[in-house]
Amino acid sequence: MAHSTKYIFVTGGVISSLGKGISAAAIGSLLEARGLRVNFLKLDPYINVDPGTMNPLQHGEVYVTEDGAETDMDLGHYERFTHTHTRQVNNCTSGRIYYRVITKERRGDYLGGTVQVIPHITDEIQLVFREASQDCDVAIIEVGGTVGDIESLPFLEAIRQFRAKHERGDVINIHVTLVPYIKTADELKTKPTQHSVAALMEIGILPDILVCRGERDLPMDIRKKLALFCNVREDCIFGARDVESIYMMPTYFHSQNLDGRICELLNIWSREPDISAWERIVEIIRHPEKEVSIALVGKYVKLHESYKSLIEALNHGGYANNAKVRLSYIDSEELESLTDEEVADVLSSADGILVPGGFGVRGTEGKIRAIEYARKNNVPFFGICLGMQMALVEYARHVCGWTDANSSEFVPDSPHPVIHLMASQAEITDKGGTMRLGAYPCVLAENSHVRSIYGKREIHERHRHRYEVNNDLRQDFELVGVVFSGTSPDNSLVEIFELPSHPWFICTQFHPEYQSKPTDAHPLFASFIEAALNNRG
Ligand code: GLN
Repeated sequence: MAHSTKYIFVTGGVISSLGKGISAAAIGSLLEARGLRVNFLKLDPYINVDPGTMNPLQHGEVYVTEDGAETDMDLGHYERFTHTHTRQVNNCTSGRIYYRVITKERRGDYLGGTVQVIPHITDEIQLVFREASQDCDVAIIEVGGTVGDIESLPFLEAIRQFRAKHERGDVINIHVTLVPYIKTADELKTKPTQHSVAALMEIGILPDILVCRGERDLPMDIRKKLALFCNVREDCIFGARDVESIYMMPTYFHSQNLDGRICELLNIWSREPDISAWERIVEIIRHPEKEVSIALVGKYVKLHESYKSLIEALNHGGYANNAKVRLSYIDSEELESLTDEEVADVLSSADGILVPGGFGVRGTEGKIRAIEYARKNNVPFFGICLGMQMALVEYARHVCGWTDANSSEFVPDSPHPVIHLMASQAEITDKGGTMRLGAYPCVLAENSHVRSIYGKREIHERHRHRYEVNNDLRQDFELVGVVFSGTSPDNSLVEIFELPSHPWFICTQFHPEYQSKPTDAHPLFASFIEAALNNRG
C-alpha cells in the first residue's frame, strides 16, 4: 500500500477522442483491483464554469454527481469502472479556475500583486490537484484536449511545476497518442506520436508511459522505434487497439502488464489484481446467450455520446441477463408526421421502448406518440425525467381525457399543467447549476413494482430537472390507474410512477443510469431488459 498519495497524469496527443478517459478509468479499475484506493480529476480546458449549460449535441452528456455537480462525461466512466464516488472537486474547467482566481482577486487576497497565469492560475490548478486527491492512494488526473492546444497550456505548466516539487517515484505521466495504420503503405506510423511527445517535452514534461491507440496491436518493432525516438523505455510503451467494448480495456491492459509497470514506476507494492469480475463481463460480451432490441426515442440521437450513461446502463442491464442489447435510435421529431400505423411500423421491432431525458419542446409530441404505442401494445416502457413527464402527459390526454394537457415548460398557461414549476424554481433566473440537482431520497410504496425490483424501501437517485409532477392532479390520476410508487420521504414530490395494468411501465423523475455499473447493473435496467426479453418471447 502506498504511504503518500501517488499521482498519475494522463495527457493526450495527436487528436482527441482517443479514449483517454476510458484509459484513465481502466487503469483506475486495475489499481483498485490491486486493493488501492483511487480518485480521479478531469480537467477541461474550456471557459464554461461547468458543462451544465452546454448543448449535449456539442459536448455529449452532462454527468451528474451525487453532490449535484454537472460534470464531464468522463466522470461517468470513472464511476462505472471503479467504486469511486465523484463530486464537484473531481471536475474542473479553465473557466472555474479563472472564476476562483478572479473571486480571490476581487476579495483582495493577492494584496495588490499583479495576478498572472504563472504563478496564480498554475498555483490554483495545483490546489485543485490536491483537493481532488484526498483519501486515496493514487490520484489519476486527466487533462482534456490535446497537447499543443493553446487552451490546455496552463494545465500542463501546472503539471510540470507539480512534478518538480515531488519525488520521482510519486508522480508519473501517461501520454495517450495515436499510431495510425496507413493502408496503402501497409504500415503503422510513429511520426505523429514522435511529434506529440516532442511538443510535451518542449513544455518540460517527459512521459513515463505511452499508450498508443490504433486499429491493431502494437508490434515489437514499432515499440522499439517509439522508444528510440520518444525517450520512453520500450517496456513502458503499451498498445490500445480498437476493441468491441470499452469493458475489455481492463483485461487488455492487464495482459500487457500496464498496471504492473505503473506500480513499479510509482514504487507501489500491492497484491496481484483480482480481475475476475472484468473477465466475467468480457465473457458475456463475447458470448451472449440472448439478444434483445431496445428503441431509444429521443431528440439528441444524432450524437450517441449525449446518452452515454443511459446507453451504458442498458448494456449493463443486458449483461445482468446474459444478453446483447441492440439499440435503435429513433429521432422523436420524425415520428410526429407519421400515421399511427407508420409509428407502429417504426417501433414494431423493439422489445422495449425507452424515452430519455431532455430539454425543450422540439420532439416532445413524437415522444408522446411512442409512449402511447408502448402503453397500448403492452411493450415494456421506461420513461426517464422528460420521458416520465411526457408519459404522464400522454396518460392525461388519452386516459383522463384532458386533451390540452402539457408540461408548463412547453405551454406556460396550459389548462391542465400536469408537469409544472415549483415555486422555488419560478424565482430563479441564472441558468447554471440551478436545477434540482444531485441525489435525493425516495421512498418506494409497498407492493409496488419498483419496490419488488429494488428490494428495499428507501433509495437515493440523482436528479437534473426544473419541472415536477403537479400535486393538485395526483388524485385524478390515481383514480384512473396510475400508481405514484416513489415519492420524496415527505410525499411532496413524485419521483416514480408506474402502471400496474401494464407488464412493465415505469417512469422515474430521476436518472437511474448514473448509478449503473457493468459489474453491478442498476436494478431498474436489469429488470427492464428482462421484461423486454420476456416480451420477445
Ligand atoms: N426539461 C425537464 C425539466 O427541466 C426534464 C429535464 C430532464 O429530462 N433532465 O424538468
